[in-house]
Formats: sequence, C-alpha cells, structure tokens
Amino acid sequence: MANKKHVYLFGNGTAEGNAKMKNLLGGKGANLAEMNLIGVAVPPGFTITTEVCTLYNEKGRDAVVATIKDEVTNAITEIENMMGTKFGDKENPLLVSVRSGARASMPGMMDTVLNLGLNNDAVEGIAKKSGNERFAWDSYRRFVQMYGDVVLGMKPESKEDPDPFEDIIEKMKEEKGVELDNDLSTDDLKELVTRFKIAAKNQTGHDFPVDPWEQLWGSVTSVFDSWMNDRAILYRKMEKIPDEWGTAVNVQAMVFGNMGENSATGVAFTRDAGTGENLFNGEYLIDAQGEDVVAGIRTPQQITKEGSIRWSKLAQVSEEERIVSYPSLEEAMPLMYKQLFETRRKLENHYRDMQDIEFTVENGRLWLLQTRNGKRTGAAMVKIAMDMLKEKMINREEAIMRVNPEKLDELLHPVFDTEAIDDASVMSKGLPASPGAATGQIVFHADDAEEWAVQGKKVILVRIETSPEDLAGMNSAEGILTARGGMTSHAAVVARGMGKCCVSGAGSIKINYHDKTLIMDGKTYSEGDFISLNGSTGDVYDGRIATMEAELSGDFGKLMKLSDKKAKLLVRTNADTPSDSKVGRDFGAVGIGLCRTEHMFFGDDKITAMREMILAGDEAGRREALAKLLPIQRADFEGIFEAMHDLPVTVRLLDPPLHEFVPHDEKGQKEMAKVMGITLKEVKEKVEDLSEVNPMLGHRGCRLGNTYPEITEMQSRAIIEAALNLKKRKIKTYPEIMIPLTGTYIEMKLQEEIVRATIAKVFEERGAKIDFLVGTMIEIPRAALIADQIAKSAEFFSFGTNDLTQMVFGYSRDDAGKFLPIYIEKGIIKEDPFQVLDQEGVGQLVDIAVKKGRKTRKKIKLGICGEHGGDPSSIEFFHRVGLQYVSCSPYRVPIARLAAAQSTIVNKRSWKRKNS
Ligand code: PEP
Ligand code: MG
Repeated sequence: MANKKHVYLFGNGTAEGNAKMKNLLGGKGANLAEMNLIGVAVPPGFTITTEVCTLYNEKGRDAVVATIKDEVTNAITEIENMMGTKFGDKENPLLVSVRSGARASMPGMMDTVLNLGLNNDAVEGIAKKSGNERFAWDSYRRFVQMYGDVVLGMKPESKEDPDPFEDIIEKMKEEKGVELDNDLSTDDLKELVTRFKIAAKNQTGHDFPVDPWEQLWGSVTSVFDSWMNDRAILYRKMEKIPDEWGTAVNVQAMVFGNMGENSATGVAFTRDAGTGENLFNGEYLIDAQGEDVVAGIRTPQQITKEGSIRWSKLAQVSEEERIVSYPSLEEAMPLMYKQLFETRRKLENHYRDMQDIEFTVENGRLWLLQTRNGKRTGAAMVKIAMDMLKEKMINREEAIMRVNPEKLDELLHPVFDTEAIDDASVMSKGLPASPGAATGQIVFHADDAEEWAVQGKKVILVRIETSPEDLAGMNSAEGILTARGGMTSHAAVVARGMGKCCVSGAGSIKINYHDKTLIMDGKTYSEGDFISLNGSTGDVYDGRIATMEAELSGDFGKLMKLSDKKAKLLVRTNADTPSDSKVGRDFGAVGIGLCRTEHMFFGDDKITAMREMILAGDEAGRREALAKLLPIQRADFEGIFEAMHDLPVTVRLLDPPLHEFVPHDEKGQKEMAKVMGITLKEVKEKVEDLSEVNPMLGHRGCRLGNTYPEITEMQSRAIIEAALNLKKRKIKTYPEIMIPLTGTYIEMKLQEEIVRATIAKVFEERGAKIDFLVGTMIEIPRAALIADQIAKSAEFFSFGTNDLTQMVFGYSRDDAGKFLPIYIEKGIIKEDPFQVLDQEGVGQLVDIAVKKGRKTRKKIKLGICGEHGGDPSSIEFFHRVGLQYVSCSPYRVPIARLAAAQSTIVNKRSWKRKNS
C-alpha cells in the first residue's frame, strides 16, 4: 500500500475525486467531490477511502493511523489554507465534521461527529470570531455530547435507560426552570460542558481529550468501527450490501446553521419521494444544527410555501399561526430559497435523477453538505422515471432501468394505511411469502375460512402448514399465516398465484388446532381475534390495521408498454382458474405457462370422483371414476381457455402424489366408504397403501400417467374436447399439453403416444381439428442431461425449476425452511435457491438442456414455469440462455415484464463493452 492514495481532497471548486468513484470514496465522498466540479458550494474537506476501512478491519487502528497519517495531516493543512483557519488554534480555529459514507447509502446506520476541534481555548476563538458566545458554547456542548456517544461509547445501557447526556440536560433544565434547550443561557451551556466532561471521565477514567488531533483520530476510527455495529450489519443484510465494501470517512470544514437568525439547516428532496410528484419538498429549521431537523425536539418547517400550506392543513395549524411560527424557507429566507431552488435544478440536471440533499445556511450563505439519489416508494419510482422521460432528462432505456422491478409489487397489492401501521405492534416474523397487506379474524381450518367469509367476515387462515385441501379456504381468506414452510411451500406458491397475502414459516408461533389458539410473543390469540399480516415484509401484527387498495396509474401502463417493446423474453402466467387467468392477462401475460390441473380437483363434486378414481382397485374402477371427472375437467378447461382466448395455454397433466387427494380424517374416510359401497376398514387400508416415505420422489408426475395411462387419456381428451367446443363458438385456443417429471426418453415417448392417439380419436369423433403441442417439463436433472433424446418426442420444454432446484441440491422443498435461514445467516449459501435461481449449479443444467434440446429440434419452444420465472435476476439468466418465455404467478407478471426489458438492455450494454 506504500504509494497508494488514501485521501482525496475537495474544495473551492476543485476535487481529486468525482461521482464515478463511489466504490473508493463512498457515495457521499464521490458526490461531495462532484458537486465541487459542477460549481455547487460545498465546505472543503477530504475523503478517506473505503479501502482504508478494509485495512482497518484487517490490521487495526495503529496500522491504519501509521499508513494515512501524513496524507491526513497534509489534507488538514489544505483545508486550513482554503478556510483561512487553523486546526486547534486559539484565535481562529478550524472545526470539522467527521461522517461515514459507504458505497450504497445506509441512512442513519453509522456514526457522525460534528464541531470537532473544540476545546476550552478554541471555544473562545469561535465566540470571538462569530461574535456569538452562546453559539460557541452550544456548539461545544454538542461536540462533547456527540464525541462522548460515538467515540467514548456513552450510550444508554438498555432501551429503558435514558441517554446519559440527555439526562444531564434534563436535570439542568429542571434546575433552571426552563422547558427548551434553547432557553438555557450561555452560562448554563458552559456548566453543561463541565458536567458532560465529568460524566465522560467517570465513564472512561480519562480526561476528555482536548487535543484536536486526538479528537480527529478517535472520530475517524470510530466511524470505521461503526461499519461493524449491529444496526449497520443488520441493514447490510437486509439490503444485501457486502460486508467487504467498507465505509469511507469524510472530514469536512464545519459550516454552522446555528449561528443565529440568519442561519438555518435542512434536508430536501428534489421531487416527492412518496408520490413522485415534481414538487421540491423538505424541512428546515432556523438557528439549528443538522440533527435538530430530524430529532423531533422542534417542529421542522417546510421548504416551499406550497408544501408549508399543505402541511399546515394536515397539522391543523391556522394560516396566521403558520406564517408567524412555521413560515416556509421560501417565505422566511427568500434569497436562500432562490439559490437552493437553483441548486436543485442544477443537481437534478446533472445527476438526472431525484436527489436527496442536505444543506446549511451560515450567516446568509448557502452550502450543500450532501446529495444522493433519493430513496423512494415504488409509485414514486415509476412516476419519476416516466416524468423524467417526458422531460427528456433521460431516454427510454434509462427510464426502464430506473425502476426496481421488485418495487412494482408495492403498486399491485393492497397496502397498510401508512399512519395506522406506525402504531401497530409486531408480534412475530415469518417469510414474506406473498406480498400485500391483510387484516382479519383468525380461523384455524380452511372450511371455517370459507364459512366465515360467506358470513361476510374477513379472516386470516392460520395453519401449521397448508395442503391442497385448504385451497378453497385460502381463497376465501384475506391472508394466510403458516408456522412451517419456505418460499416455495404449498401455501407460498398458491398464495402468490392468488395474489393473496401470505406469511409462511413463522417458526416462533405456536398453533394448537384442538384449542383453536395461536401464541405469539407470549400472547394467546383465540379464534375470532384480529391479527394483521404484511406479506411483503413477513411481519405479523397484533389487532386490526386499516388497509388501502393499490392504484395503478397511467404511468405504470406506459412503463409496461415501453418494457414490452424492449423485452425479448415473453411473459406468461401460471394460472389454474379462469379468474387467475384473467388477472394474469390483465397484467399483460401473453399466455399460460403452467396450468396445474391438480388444483382443479378440490371442489366438492370433483374431489369425490377423484378419490373414487384413486381408491379404485383396478383399471375398470378407475375408468368409471374418470368418466365422471371428464366433463368436470372439460368445463374447467373451457373456462380457462376462454379467459385466455387467442393465447397459448400450457396444461400440465396430473403431477402430485395421489395420497394428497385421499381423505386422512375419519369423517372423509367414512364418506368415501359410503360413496364407494366399501367398508371404512377397506378405505383406511387403501389410504395406508398410498402413503410413501418420500412422496416427492415417489409415485407422481408421468409415473402416474405411465402406470395408469387412463388418467392421461382422460385429461388429453378433456383438453382437446374443451378446445374443440370453443372452436365451435369461434374462440381460438392453442393448447400445449405438458408431461410432468419426465426423467427418461421412454417415459416421455409413451406419454406422447397416448396423448396423440387420444387426440386423433377425438378429432375423428368430432370431425374437427385444432393445432396443439405436446411437450414436457424439465425438472429432473436426468432429463436436462438427456434433453437431446427427450426433444425427439417433446415439441417444447418448460423448466420446472422448483423441482429441479430441489433435486439438484437435494433440499426438500417442503422441509428446507428448517435449515435454509441458518445457512443464509451463516453465509453457507448466499440466497434461497428456491427464490433466486442458482445459476452456478441449477443454471448449468438449464443451459445444457437448452443446447441439447435445440440440437435435436432446432425450433423447440423453451420456457420456464418454476417460481424463478418471477424473479428479476433469474429472468436475466433465462434471457441469456435464450429461453422464449418465463411464466410466473399473475401478480408478478408486470415485474417479469420489466425485468425482461432490463435483461435486454443490460445484456446489450455488456455485449457492447465486450466488443468495443
Ligand atoms: C416446478 O417444479 O418448478 C414446477 C413448476 O412444478 P411444481 O411446482 O408444481 O412442482
Ligand atoms: Mg414440479
């Protein structure tokens, strides 16, 4: 590291860094440099690079100080020259701020020290220079307080304890009989500084440091330490920011917003971060320093007059009172406002994005302390991108890239009322299995959910786990909470398909079906009690919380249109009912990529016939039951095909293990005995007979169709008859019949033959024909490896990445929830492979199968219908390997459309980079 540069200067319109150097200088440092370069006034300073933080974590304090000491000393000299002040000087001292600044913004996660350089001498110098003794001592007490907190670790010991410094201030105010900090006199502030220092000595056993250099090194190293504090670690985990990045440290000359009535400090957004409206907005305070605006001690005022008037209405403040006590910056400091407004224009034009800025007015002079791309809601993200496109600030590709596909989710589901959620208590946390907000009364059984819903009640279905039998109840519920199961558990997959809020795998809750109780965080809930779920975060709340319907604005539609023009991948939906099909289609799906026929067998009339079929002792018995199922299936397909008219529909033949359909409770078993005219004992024996040790690796998929070909026959017939019925009504359909769980060529070939023979028979009987395809899912590793053989028989492949992931990793989809969170926590794996495709392993198989499939059948149709079809990073991979479509649950269709467009753009850019 000998010749490496660790410190980058900026100030007076020059800078050694720039906005492109975020990795090295952190976001804040890079933008402070850039603002200098574009003529925005920024207090001079320097940035210590993120690499030094990494060095600090490896080698410790002494090594770091030795490495960068000379550079820091020189940099301080440069600031002294620019400011005409001197660090530690009695007459004219330089004071600095020390702030963190990582590559990605981590608001409020790390530490800051302001007014550094003050001691008993320097405070006199500042008092003399500013002509404001109170200001000087107020700055000093703030410094001791911040330094004590950040560097000396003087924090409350527990949540209940008061902050040690605030405690001293409160006592002082009591003694003096005053209410506000601002009411303390200069002498009171002097006394406060003394008391603070005594407290510091009691805590550390050392005198409070008076040497500015000692103060500086203490603060710089504390900022590095704060990279590893608990809240920063947690935030990084949530935002997927790597620990290795480290934070930079920014040391900057202080400017003061607390120098009197001609000074102020504030934060602002160049557009509304909540709605995206093109309205400059923010808060400020006169005679205040940075943290006062957010600390909640004084009521902050609005930047613009318009914002101020809006605020006063919400706060129920009269116009007279507003003007006197809470005027906007526009009204109180018109000249500063004008300059700030001009800076807003300059920054937005330069960065071509909404900015989140911090500013200070010192004695009538405006300084910018920070600018960064502002965080925003999903709705604001879409509006700002589309507005900036309209304003010609950005082009179409940039508008598409500006929107985080995951954030679109917020626009599609009901959301909690923002005010109501602030007062709610979180009782448990599970996986955010299916987004949205739900509030309702607890029921523990699916049939209760149905009954209560019929009575007009809103219910939350609470289950240890769900099974296909719970489907109707799940559909009737507002939301679903399960104690077990991961992101691809039955509850999660089905709920996402329905667009129903679901929190799954909330391991800490205790459910007792017998007593109908749920225990969360020590509180017992009974049937009928209210709880609320946030399926986007996994939070489970106590009681009722108001929700509001999401609104889809015109900008959303425009963004979708733009995306479709760019995207190469088409987006289909996974849907098993006409209503799901319609939702998917309304969200822009261009077909169904997976219709899981098993979900159709759970209506009252259907399940009995299905059970009869399964429990039948021989082929004749099965055929009898299948004959009852045929018209029911045909009608279901007609409904779906009609909803998806003119678009292709991939129908998968029966896939799950049969025992999932049989009654496991005595009541159901007795009913079956009656229907079938056999004894209860016989039913029990048959059910027992169907149980398997590893059902997911057992008698399921095309193994059913190959052992009981009559099932394949019935389903093929139902599909084609439905399509021919619609043809008569002049409704066009394009059925694609899909064989599940193929592992060998012969398995596929035999199924294909049955399907084609059945269809040929139907065509002959009806004297009519339609186009159709026969293909297979690729979800068993062996199928991917011999895809060239399978393609001889399959006209299309659809990758079932749920099962493929399960089998490649050897992780049971239904049990992985027990260990995956720990694996992720420990860094054994980075992400849940059932949510984000494992490109390294599972991806290889997809790639192999694509290549082998195309070798045999050049024009083979290729898609994916596992849960990964709705995940943006996985979609990018599917684009790269050359699939034609992805298929995902209806509510993820818009996300997938945007992600598909972004995949085209990203790959074009990297192609250009590689070839230029
Ligand atoms: C899959 O395995 O990826 C798939 C789509 O099928 P299922 O989830 O129904 O097993
Ligand atoms: Mg599967």
